Amino acid sequence: MPTGSSTREVMGAGRCRLSKIGATRRPPPARVRVAVRLRPFVDGTAGASDPPCVRGMDSCSLEIANWRNHQETLKYQFDAFYGERSTQQDIYAGSVQPILRHLLEGQNASVLAYGPTGAGKTHTMLGSPEQPGVIPRALMDLLQLTREEGAEGRPWALSVTMSYLEIYQEKVLDLLDPASGDLVIREDCRGTILIPGLTQKPITSFADFERHFLPASRNRTVGATRLNQRSSRSHAVLLVKVDQRERLAPFRQREGKLYLIDLAGSEDNRRTGNKGLRLKESGAINTSLFVLGKVVDALNQGLPRVPYRDSKLTRLLQDSLGGSAHSILIANIAPERRFYLDTVSALNFAARSKEVINRPFTNESLQPYVLGPVKLSQKELLGPPEAKRARGPEEEEIGSPEPMAAPASASQKLSPLQKLSSMDPAMLERLLSLDRLLASQGSQGAPLLSTPKRERMVLMKTVEEKDLEIERLKTKQKELEAKMLAQKAEEKENHCPTMLRPLSHRTVTGAKPLKKAVVMPLQLIQEQAASPNAEIHILKNKGRKRKLESLDALEPEEKAEDCWELQISPELLAHGRQKILDLLNEGSARDLRSLQRIGPKKAQLIVGWRELHGPFSQVEDLERVEGITGKQMESFLKANILGLAAGQRCGPS
Ligand code: ADP
Ligand code: MG
Repeated sequence: MPTGSSTREVMGAGRCRLSKIGATRRPPPARVRVAVRLRPFVDGTAGASDPPCVRGMDSCSLEIANWRNHQETLKYQFDAFYGERSTQQDIYAGSVQPILRHLLEGQNASVLAYGPTGAGKTHTMLGSPEQPGVIPRALMDLLQLTREEGAEGRPWALSVTMSYLEIYQEKVLDLLDPASGDLVIREDCRGTILIPGLTQKPITSFADFERHFLPASRNRTVGATRLNQRSSRSHAVLLVKVDQRERLAPFRQREGKLYLIDLAGSEDNRRTGNKGLRLKESGAINTSLFVLGKVVDALNQGLPRVPYRDSKLTRLLQDSLGGSAHSILIANIAPERRFYLDTVSALNFAARSKEVINRPFTNESLQPYVLGPVKLSQKELLGPPEAKRARGPEEEEIGSPEPMAAPASASQKLSPLQKLSSMDPAMLERLLSLDRLLASQGSQGAPLLSTPKRERMVLMKTVEEKDLEIERLKTKQKELEAKMLAQKAEEKENHCPTMLRPLSHRTVTGAKPLKKAVVMPLQLIQEQAASPNAEIHILKNKGRKRKLESLDALEPEEKAEDCWELQISPELLAHGRQKILDLLNEGSARDLRSLQRIGPKKAQLIVGWRELHGPFSQVEDLERVEGITGKQMESFLKANILGLAAGQRCGPS
């Protein structure tokens, strides 16, 4: 994989195909782990004159003086407590390293450093060249792990990418591309949080990582000097993604994400007397951290609504708190007395966080016999025989390790890999009925039973989806027919001049209402829309030639004899187009499926395109969506525009 190039995170069809393994079963819980790290005195005030206000008791608990009653101490217990003498390696090996293996299982993990400014969050996460922190250590190990696991001859091929962002004043800024401005945080169809447009750099070595990370961190440091400790007022998020593709059948794909987060200082800004810009910054930080607290509380109390969406930080952490990640919160605290109140509040937050239960699951999917998600979606748009034709011979070799059975004699009906006798009878029955179905539909492809197992599964899935789609389309057509009839009846009653007017002498019967409707080709629709005076137009069908003329130019009765079939005002068509455009821009994948000719895959492709390129400016942009051809586009418009236009004008909507 080239290390110099970068990609942007997109939500494409391939991504949405990933599924939660065992989604039907509830994944086992994994509590958020909480560690507390007490840093040593750093200002040289340590000593008898300023004894620490916090004291470690053992490897899991600590005590702090109770400010209400000096005779008492408050005791806390966590998953781990690291005292002043603990090293970077202690924290890393004790709390972070153990979760890295989950990434290779296709699960997510996150490490969050929490605590007041100056308590050691950046030291813990980043450290220094002499004392490297969690980030360099985790990257070093993860890259080593992926190299070993992804080596030639191993079952999975692995690749790692990194993104680095900052949340500052509720804006998401790409530190690898600071010019890109505020980015949006979205959720895909599986509930996975993603940031379209965020730079992703492929990394294969630690040197690669440093090459991208160090300048990006400097970007942040420059801001810090200029804005006086901006870095302590923003949340820095390093995202490392591990993608895996199985080399042999069943060609699974997995994706594991690791978030390494240096949170903004948790100090109470009301006590710091901030003003102006600082006050604004503090407000923003407080919002995010305040919402973080509310999220933790809502999760602990099992409230039906968890306010993830109330701040950028919590939206991003949706995966990590009460979500699908193995999460570790490292609460950093300082020993100095001046930190006392912030230390107590950080400890209280940490204590509440350890009650949060996550349910990590594996992000895994089957990768059908294609090389990448784009090719996959193109082929999925085709039916089984077409998909077969579209697959070239080379791809057949790469993607299909099982030998292709010759679609020949009846005795050779089964794949050599799976004999009839060894097949599950239910599966056999199903394959036979599907074969019959395909044959009855005139399929030219090889019978299912003679195709290799993996391909057979894909074909079966496609047929199943097509059946569903046909059912849906039938229902939709019935609805439309009913609508048209109602519309025409209403038109007759009202003598509405802008309605569809029957132009032939033949009366419209209830039996075949749609036969009367002919939808104009797209360019004609556009022409009409451009001419404001032409309220009503008709489409003339002379043999094969179609011609558009204005109604005023004709003798109505006489011309109507001549097979005039439909008239529809440009205004109506414009409404129809606008409705489609609105759906394309605002509809969810589910909404989009209400459109004719849009099945689940195309709906996903459209949503993915929109995520990447922003709103569609016109309906024709649909052609730019990967896998939608001009021809499909035209038939899509024909199928949808009339119904939507009519619905807009006459229906109750
Ligand atoms: P924060 O990111 O929470 O604002 P820093 O990581 O910048 O805090 O730490 C503040 C100062 O304390 C820095 O000078 C840092 O080097 C020092 N420091 C923090 N933790 C430790 C530690 N465990 N050992 C030695 N020095 C530390
Ligand atoms: Mg810091």
